[in-house]
Amino acid sequence: MTFLVTEKCIRCKYTDCVEVCPVDCFYEGPNMLVIHPEECIDCGLCEPECPANAIYSEDDLPEAYQPFLVLNKTLAKKWPNITQRKAPPPDADRWKDQESKHQYLEE
Ligand code: SF4
Ligand code: SF4
Repeated sequence: MTFLVTEKCIRCKYTDCVEVCPVDCFYEGPNMLVIHPEECIDCGLCEPECPANAIYSEDDLPEAYQPFLVLNKTLAKKWPNITQRKAPPPDADRWKDQESKHQYLEE
C-alpha cells in the first residue's frame, strides 16, 4: 500500500505535505506534487495536512482518481525531490475546489 497525490493538487501545490513526511518522498512537478510509492512508508501523516484534500491512501482511492496511481509512480522517477515547504502559486485558492483538473497537469 502507498499514499498518493491526486489531481486536486494541480495548480494548488500548497506543499504543507512535504513538511511532515518523515522519509521525504514527495517529488515536485511544474504544477503538482507526487509521492514515490516505493519510498512512502504509509504513515498517513501527510493526508490531513493537505488543504486541498488531494492525498489518498491507495486503498481509499476513488475510481475517478485511479489514473494517479500510475502517474505518482512514473512522475516520481522523473521529477526532483522536494523536502521544504514553499509559497503556493498566487492563484492556488481559486483552483482549490475545482473539479476535473487532470487536463491541466504539466508533466
Ligand atoms: S499539501 Fe496538498 S495541494 Fe499542497 S502540495 Fe501537498 S498534495 Fe498538493
Ligand atoms: S504517508 Fe507518510 S511516508 Fe507516505 S508520503 Fe505521506 S507522510 Fe510521507
